Amino acid sequence: MPAPRVRIAPSPTGPLHIGTARTALFNYLYARRTGGTFVLRLEDTDLARNTIAFEEDILENLHWLGIGWDEGPDSAGGEDHGPYAPYRQMQRTADHVAAAKDLLARDLAYPCYCTPEELDADRKAQEAAHEAPHYVGRCANLTPEERSEREAAAKRPAVRFRVEQGVVGWHDLVRGDVEFDTANIGGDFLIVRSDGSPLYHFAVVVDDASMEMTHIIRGEDHISNTPKHILLFEALGHEIPKFAHLPLILNPDRTKMSKRKSQTAVADYRAQGFLPEALVNFLSLLGWSTGTEEEILSLDDIAGRFDLEHVQKGGAIFDKDRLEWLNGQWIRKLEPEDLIERLLPFLEADHQAGRIDRVPTAEELRPLIPIIQERLPTLASAGDLVGFLWQDKVTVDPAVLVPKRWDAATTLAGLRAARETISSSTAPIDFEADELEPPMRALAEARGWKAGDLFMAVRVAVTGRTATPPLFDSLVALGRDRVLARIDAAIDTLERSEDAA
Ligand code: GLU
Repeated sequence: MPAPRVRIAPSPTGPLHIGTARTALFNYLYARRTGGTFVLRLEDTDLARNTIAFEEDILENLHWLGIGWDEGPDSAGGEDHGPYAPYRQMQRTADHVAAAKDLLARDLAYPCYCTPEELDADRKAQEAAHEAPHYVGRCANLTPEERSEREAAAKRPAVRFRVEQGVVGWHDLVRGDVEFDTANIGGDFLIVRSDGSPLYHFAVVVDDASMEMTHIIRGEDHISNTPKHILLFEALGHEIPKFAHLPLILNPDRTKMSKRKSQTAVADYRAQGFLPEALVNFLSLLGWSTGTEEEILSLDDIAGRFDLEHVQKGGAIFDKDRLEWLNGQWIRKLEPEDLIERLLPFLEADHQAGRIDRVPTAEELRPLIPIIQERLPTLASAGDLVGFLWQDKVTVDPAVLVPKRWDAATTLAGLRAARETISSSTAPIDFEADELEPPMRALAEARGWKAGDLFMAVRVAVTGRTATPPLFDSLVALGRDRVLARIDAAIDTLERSEDAA
C-alpha cells in the first residue's frame, strides 16, 4: 500500500474555524501516525469572499497550533512547496478545464444550456409536486443539431455530469458502510458553470485525484457530497480514496456549532489567552478518545496514539468549561520563564487598553509566578488577577469596600487599625508575607473582628477587588509604601461617601 496522502482544503473566506482546525489536526495526526504526507491546499475559488487576511489567519493559526504541513503554501500569498504544486486551486484551472473536456469527450458529461429561469421554474414545479429537487434532464440528450442551434443563439453552456441510476456506497473509516441511492442526489449535477469556472465538487475531486490523495478525512457535513465525489473519481478513472467523516461539533444543547451562537475563530481563543497546547489537546478530544481516562495529552502524545478507530460517530460536544480546565492544567505545567514570556504580550495588551498603567518587567513578574501560576485560567486573566500592581491608582467602590457583615464605621475603624499595624508595629515588620499575617490576626482578635472581614476590607482597599492572590502575598508584592497610600486613599473615599450620604 502506498504511504497515505491526506489533506486539508480550507477556503480563505473566513478566519480559521475551530472545525477546520479539528479537521486539519486529525489529518495531520493520521499522517504522522502512518508515516504519510499531510498536504494543505487552499480552495480559493470564491473570488468574491477570499481575502489574503483570511489566508494569513488560517496559515498562521495552524502554525501556532503546531499543525505543520508537508506540502502546500509556505505563507499567505507566498510560494508553495511540494511535488504537486501549485497548491492553490485557482492556479489549477487548466487541470479542471482539461478534466471537463475529457468527460465531455467521453459523454460522461454534457453541455447544459438551461437558463436560471428554466431551472428556477423546474425547482418550483418540483416543490409544488412535493418532489426532491433534481435536474429534469432537459439537455441530457440533445442532438448535435440541437446543440449547435443553442450555441448559435450565443448561449454559453455549463457542463453537467451524468448520474446513472444505482447505488453508491463506501466503507467509511468512521461511520462504517454508507450507501446512497443516486436517485437521491439530485440527478445530473453541474461541474462547470457557464462562465467556465468549476464547481466545488468537481475542482475538489480533480485536485484530490491529481494530488494522489489516498484518504479524505473531513467533517460529516460533507457526507452527502461524497457520492458525487465517488462518481467523479470513477469517471476520471482514478482510484477512489478512502473516506472518513468526522463527527459534527455541537454546542452543549446539541445544536450545530455556528459563528452566530458560539465563538468559532481560533484567533479569538488565542487572543483570550488559551495556550496552543491546551487548544490542540481539546480539539483532539472533539470526537476522538484514547480509550482511557487520560485527558492531558501533548501533540506528540496524541500523534503517537491517534487512530481513526477511536473516532466516534455521534456529535462531539464543544464543552468550553473543559477547554478552560485543560488550559489551566497546561498553564500549571509551564516552566516559570516560559510562562513569563507568554504573559508579557497579554500585559502589553492590558497596557494598550489602559487597564494597567505600565507593563511589568520579566524580573518583576518572576517572584509573582508562584502565586499566580496556580490561579490563572487563561494568560489574559493575569491582568484581572494582579493588574492592581501596575496601576497607579485603584478605584475603590465604597459598596464593595465594606464587608458584608460590617458597616462603614467598622470598616473605617478596621482600615485605620490595619494601617497602624502595618506601618508602626514596634519591631519593624519585614515586609514579608509570613511576618505580616500574625500581627493582623492578633489585631482582629483583640478587636473582636472576624479576620476574614478585616482582610477583605484591606484587600479591597489596596487592590480594588475582592478576588486576588492571597492577601499577604499581594501586600508584599505592592510594597509597604503603596499599601499605606492605598489604605489612606480608601479611608478617604469611604469618609467622603459617608459624608455625602
Ligand atoms: N473547501 C472545502 C471546505 O472547506 C473542502 C472540503 C473537503 O475537504 O472536501 O469545506
